[in-house]
Amino acid sequence: MAFSNLGLSQTMVDGVKAMGYVEPTPIQLRAIPLILSGQDVIGSAQTGTGKTAAFALPILSKLESHQPRPRLLILEPTRELAAQVETAIRDFARFTNLRAAVLYGGVGYGRQMDALKAGVDIIIATPGRLLDHLERGTCKFDQIKYLVLDEADRMLDMGFLPDVRRIVDKCPRDRHTSLFSATVPPQIETLIKWAMKNPQTIEI
Ligand code: AMP
Repeated sequence: MAFSNLGLSQTMVDGVKAMGYVEPTPIQLRAIPLILSGQDVIGSAQTGTGKTAAFALPILSKLESHQPRPRLLILEPTRELAAQVETAIRDFARFTNLRAAVLYGGVGYGRQMDALKAGVDIIIATPGRLLDHLERGTCKFDQIKYLVLDEADRMLDMGFLPDVRRIVDKCPRDRHTSLFSATVPPQIETLIKWAMKNPQTIEI
């Protein structure tokens, strides 16, 4: 099966081709059609399986082109992962006019606020800094259609689950949620029941 047969937009097919991806990985083969069809997806998969493209390609296909309010929110446990996912998203979206901002702590607010003010489609963030922005009123979630909770077990280990819950609570209920986690401990099960609708599980 090729990327061009999965139902992705042409800009995404061109994007992965430009990155040199030839064939979808197992998680991409299974997750892309499910997310495109509007299902909530749980991926129990580690980094290195191609999970970033598995969630990003179908969602970016659906976003199509730039609008001023954020429609996709991706939560990451660390700034390194957030930066890495932002780079991947920019690569996949190179043939679109979609815009992304990455928000994490340990750096000033200026550049992040400028990016938000200019209008972005995609926010990639760590929970603490995102909550700071929400409290300052510098970002609004009322148009969020897609939520991705990446590396959920690491967010749990790092004590971020209460922050994650507060963030999820601020997203519209009418949204699609994907969750990726190498393991699914009971606290993540609880989060799944609370935050997701009839999720399909993919184990890799
Ligand atoms: P991830 O699990 O998303 O962190 O991806 C791990 C690495 O695999 C990244 O360097 C990706 O660029 C690469 N990768 C993801 N999907 C593919 C694919 N279908 N073909 C080749 N490389 C890929």
